[in-house]
Amino acid sequence: MVKAIVGANWGDEGKGKITDMLGQEADIIVRFQGGSNAGHTIINEYGKFALHLLPSGVFYAHTTSIIGNGVALNIPYLFNEIKSIVDRGVPVPKILVSDRAQIMMPYHILFDQYEEERLGGKSFGSTKSGIAPFYSDKYAKIGFQVSELFDEEALREKVDRVCEMKNIILEHMYHKPFLNPDELFNLLVEYRKMVEPYVCDVAAYLHQAVKDGKNILLEGQLGALKDPDFGIYPMVTSSSTLAAYGAIGAGIPAYEIKDIIAVAKAYSSAVGAGEFVSEIFGNEADELRRRGGDGGEYGATTGRPRRMGWFDAVATRYGCRIQGATEVALTVLDVMGYLDELPICVGYEIDGAVTKDFPTTVKLAKAKPVYEIFPGWKQEIRGIKKYEDLPEDCRKYIEFIEKEIEVPITMVSNGPGRDEIIKR
Ligand code: GDP
Repeated sequence: MVKAIVGANWGDEGKGKITDMLGQEADIIVRFQGGSNAGHTIINEYGKFALHLLPSGVFYAHTTSIIGNGVALNIPYLFNEIKSIVDRGVPVPKILVSDRAQIMMPYHILFDQYEEERLGGKSFGSTKSGIAPFYSDKYAKIGFQVSELFDEEALREKVDRVCEMKNIILEHMYHKPFLNPDELFNLLVEYRKMVEPYVCDVAAYLHQAVKDGKNILLEGQLGALKDPDFGIYPMVTSSSTLAAYGAIGAGIPAYEIKDIIAVAKAYSSAVGAGEFVSEIFGNEADELRRRGGDGGEYGATTGRPRRMGWFDAVATRYGCRIQGATEVALTVLDVMGYLDELPICVGYEIDGAVTKDFPTTVKLAKAKPVYEIFPGWKQEIRGIKKYEDLPEDCRKYIEFIEKEIEVPITMVSNGPGRDEIIKR
């Protein structure tokens, strides 16, 4: 049985917590896209962790954690991350890395920084983890697959060829120091030694696992609105954030994904630039940011303050639809107990007409939020275990959202901990 856990919004919905929780019953957890550019925060018996590249299953002795072919694999980063959790007392996890995963090169990170510098105020707000240059090279067919590390002769030839090309851009476009092919080759030999114990034909491994009836979780990064096709292009990420891509980025048949859990947050937050219709500002935003998530809404990778907003039913219904959500987990509801009133964005006004359909970016830029206001429940809801025990106004908020997004909300998360969840 394969389940995907993906974001319905702009990322940071709390997928890490839901994956960690469902990981208790999973045999295998797979990362299928993205890289170390976003983080998952997980709180468990070992402490609080911000994972960037490792799947959220690494804390369990019974799960195998997989880096699928769709991931941007930063090899030294992966090894530091493994070391950082093992150093804090977590048992050495079982990790497999796809032999078809491509390698994040040091120059991808440099090019990401150089490009942000070049764009100045018009930048994308990249985390400068090299993601866009990495995926550009993958599809331009000048990326390096893990498997290529094992043929030194061919590797050497390709390193020379790629450096020659990159150096032309470094010289004429960015006026930055050249890449040294000898150094790069030696580094890749080091990378091979680091990754070798983990390399696996992951697609074949998962083929067998599916046959054996194993429980497999596909763990998405970011959310539907950051997808390059269906998100707020061009202020998106460079790999697909959709459950459908889980099949490709892990190497399993699309029809094996039986359950798609879209994670949505009870309010909105976003990082980086881009349209954000229900965004709020000033004191109102500061207070929600300070109270939000677990210890405030600040990026798990960059520490940047996240942009804040009210729940956007238009964006979330669309996000769930594009994800193909079969169920929704609504998170961080506990944070909202301080509010007297809770606005929900139920429509976008564009050129004088109200729509409930999420438009393309050009139209989105003109959208103004149409709100419906709900009374606050003015109460702490952490610790509540049964749905019926939630305050009536809180249930009304949840049930209104459920009606708007047209997917059953099967889980309500009322605290950051693994067991702070209300199943319906
Ligand atoms: P992810 O990338 O989707 O995994 O999300 P992040 O980990 O970046 O952001 C979610 C943040 O909210 C983390 O700090 C979590 O510990 C926290 N969190 C998750 N669920 C809840 C919840 O129900 N209540 C509270 N207060 N915090 C939560």
